[in-house]
Amino acid sequence: MGINRIGLLTSGGDAPGMNAVIRAVVRTAYANNLEILGIRRGYNGLINGDVMELGHETVNGLTGRGGTILHTARCPEFTTKDGLLKAAKTCKYLGIDSLICVGGDGTFRGALDLSKHDIPSVGVPATIDNDIACTNYAIGFDTACNTAIGAIDRLRDTMQSHERCSLVEVMGRNAGHLAVYVGIAVGANCILVPERTFDFERDIADKVRRSRIHGRKHFIIIVAEGVGNTGEIADQVKEETGLDARVTILGHIQRGGQPNARDRVTASRMGRHAVELLMEGRQNRVVGIKDGNLQDFDIDEALGMKKGLQETMYETARILSMG
Ligand code: ADP
Repeated sequence: MGINRIGLLTSGGDAPGMNAVIRAVVRTAYANNLEILGIRRGYNGLINGDVMELGHETVNGLTGRGGTILHTARCPEFTTKDGLLKAAKTCKYLGIDSLICVGGDGTFRGALDLSKHDIPSVGVPATIDNDIACTNYAIGFDTACNTAIGAIDRLRDTMQSHERCSLVEVMGRNAGHLAVYVGIAVGANCILVPERTFDFERDIADKVRRSRIHGRKHFIIIVAEGVGNTGEIADQVKEETGLDARVTILGHIQRGGQPNARDRVTASRMGRHAVELLMEGRQNRVVGIKDGNLQDFDIDEALGMKKGLQETMYETARILSMG
């Protein structure tokens, strides 16, 4: 059966580049005489029938805009049987014959549930955490790294002036990808990630002592949010090294701002691919990218994959932070 009307939603945490996906999906659909119905606030919009027509002209200038014009939200109701049934009913009522769901693993789990009610879908990975196993890269990661790096470069100037130790908490949920990339890029003295056990003596105190011998008086420690106790680590730094330690939580600024070239282009390519998969009748897939080439996997298979920290990257960070 051919498709006519595709529902498009952005869900979970927002990521720079989501708007570029929206534009790519709408433009690809337009080129193929398909309709796109935008669904507001993720799965909430499906439950409440909160939708908007996305015509060709509604996405002008969207490639470079941060956030998502469809808004995003977490929707606990959707994870209940009633919520799921309501969402499936809305799809039928509105004539939505398939869905493109932009977000992370949670969003794809939702799409998988809907597929069991005859609403096929394609998932597009967008999260600054870059924690989606079936893809090397998720839309938003590069922009978020650059935002964090810009902020930490500024922080470094003041930390250097005051000879302080700065503990910077970056996002990433339960993953340390963002912390490792940002840590390497800013030349951090120490990077703490949830995937590795942390030993204060080995990872911080010893390094501080050795660096001090070489005359260093300021330190930057990157803490992934998944580590969970940045304030306590700062207190320990104060007590055991005597350094004036300050905590900066970068928070949601990492999610905002104009997407950079990599995120705009990746989002554009993935958005087009998602529509074309549905046109080819290849349903319930998640788009991914490896070595610059687009790929796609069965949603079930994609959700079953595991993604660890990239070992060579972590090792590079460790070696470069010595001394
Ligand atoms: P992300 O997509 O970034 O991982 P969340 O985990 O918050 O973000 O998921 C986004 C939304 O997807 C949730 O608010 C919920 O509506 C839906 N969702 C999450 N987990 C599940 C699940 N296990 N089953 C069905 N739907 C889910």
